Amino acid sequence: MSVVEREQHGDGAGPQLARLETIGAHLDAVEAALAALDDGSYGRCRRCGQPIADEILGRDPLAGDCGEHRLPVMPPGEAG
Ligand SMILES: [Zn+2]
Repeated sequence: MSVVEREQHGDGAGPQLARLETIGAHLDAVEAALAALDDGSYGRCRRCGQPIADEILGRDPLAGDCGEHRLPVMPPGEAG
């Protein structure tokens, strides 16, 4: 059984826009991972070509960079 979360329809589109951007960024990562799977480079760092640690891929199957070249994840709302 699937549960559909109902969104509250407020006047402001801010939070929804932010959410869409997050989803869009995720989609980009999915497409990049699929493309990498396609050309056989999946699991390798896009920068140095080294294999990405299983630990990293286990945590984030869409990771495209090795631990050394991974960008730190910025907490949302921490701008500037
Ligand atoms: Zn690397």
